[in-house]
Amino acid sequence: MTGWEQYRDVIEDREFPTVRDWRERTGGKVIGCFPVYAPVELPYALGMLPVGIFGGGNRIELAHADSRFQSFICSIVKSTLELGFIGKLDLFDGLLFHSICDPARNLASVMQRNFAERPAIYVHLPQNMTSPSVVPWFASELRRVGEALGAVAGRPIRDVDMARAIGAYEVVRGLLRHLYALRTEAPERISTAELYTLARLVTLMDPAESAPILRDAIERSQQRQERPKDRIRVVLVGSFCEQPPLELIESLESAGCYLVDDDFLQGWRWARRAVAGGGDPYEALARAYVEDSVHLSTKHDLRRPRAQALIESVKSSRADAVIFLGAKFCEPGLFDYALYRRALEEHGIPHLFLEFEEKMWLYDRVRGEVETFVESMLFTEATA
Ligand code: SF4
Repeated sequence: MTGWEQYRDVIEDREFPTVRDWRERTGGKVIGCFPVYAPVELPYALGMLPVGIFGGGNRIELAHADSRFQSFICSIVKSTLELGFIGKLDLFDGLLFHSICDPARNLASVMQRNFAERPAIYVHLPQNMTSPSVVPWFASELRRVGEALGAVAGRPIRDVDMARAIGAYEVVRGLLRHLYALRTEAPERISTAELYTLARLVTLMDPAESAPILRDAIERSQQRQERPKDRIRVVLVGSFCEQPPLELIESLESAGCYLVDDDFLQGWRWARRAVAGGGDPYEALARAYVEDSVHLSTKHDLRRPRAQALIESVKSSRADAVIFLGAKFCEPGLFDYALYRRALEEHGIPHLFLEFEEKMWLYDRVRGEVETFVESMLFTEATA
C-alpha cells in the first residue's frame, strides 16, 4: 500500500476539499490552472495556491455548457465551463489558460465573458522553439503573467519569491520523477492507479504539503513485496490534457498491462531535470521549458519530434507495446496519433488505439479489447 486509497475520492471531488482546507487555514487566494502546462510557480510566488482544473470528470451533468460550444469538442472544455455555471469555481480568485489548442483558447474567452468577476489570464506559450529570441521572449511573457497575477494577489511579484517557488515545485517534480522511475523499474510495487492518484493530488495541494505524502509513498513502494504478474509492459500516450476516469486506468491494468510510462498530468511534471537555479528566475523557467521539457502534444518542437520521443520512451522503459488512449475530439492528440502510428509500425512495435470521454461508466468493452490485445501478444511470445 502506498496510502493512496484515502485520496481516491479527494481527486474526484469537485468541492475541492484540499483547496478549501488550505484556504481556511491560510486565508490565501486560489488560482485554477487549466492543463496542460501552466506556470504554477507564478501564483505560488505571490502566496496563492495554483490548483489543477481538469473538468468535471464523471461526477457532473452538463446542463448549461453544451449550448455554449459546438458539438464536436472534447469533454474537458465543456465540463470546466459547467463547473463555473454550477458554482464549483466560486472558490477560485482567477484562472490561468494557455495556448494549447483552439478549444482551450475559446474557453478562456467564454469564461471571461460569463464570469467577469474572476480574471481569466492567458499565457502565450512559444510556438517557435528554435528562434534565438525564444527564451527571452518567453521569460518576458512569464513576467507579464506574473504582473497580471500580482493584480489578483494585491501585491507585486518579487524575483526572490519566484526563485523560492521554483524550488518548492522542483521538490515535488523530483519526487514524482523518483516515483515514476520506481514504477518503470518495478511496476508491481506501485500501480499506475496509485501513482496517478498521487500525481493528481499534487495538483490540488501546496507543494510543501504534498511532498511528505510523496516521500511516504516512495518509502512504502520500496518496501512492498509483490511478485510480478504475467502482464505486458505498455507505454500509454494521448491522455496529456483531458484525464481518463481512474476506473479506466484500473481496467487497463487488470486487463493485463503494466503501464511503465504515460503522459497523464504531464504539465505538472514537465521538467525532465531540475530547473537551474541562480540568475533571472523567469529566464530559468523559460529556458527549462524550451530546452528541457518532456514531449507534449501541445508543444511544437521540431528538434525532438514527438514520435521519436515515444519510440525512445518504449526503448528506455523496456515496453512491449503502446496504447494510445486519446480524449474524444482532442485534435492535438489525434493529429499525433497519425505520426505515432507510422513510427510504431516502422519499428515493429504493437499498438492499440482507444478513445475515452469523461462520461464513461462502462469499461467492459475497453477491457475486452485490451485483454484480446494482451492475449495476442502473450500468445505470440509463447509461440515465438
Ligand atoms: S483535450 Fe485536447 S482539444 Fe481538449 S482542451 Fe485539451 S488539448 Fe485541447
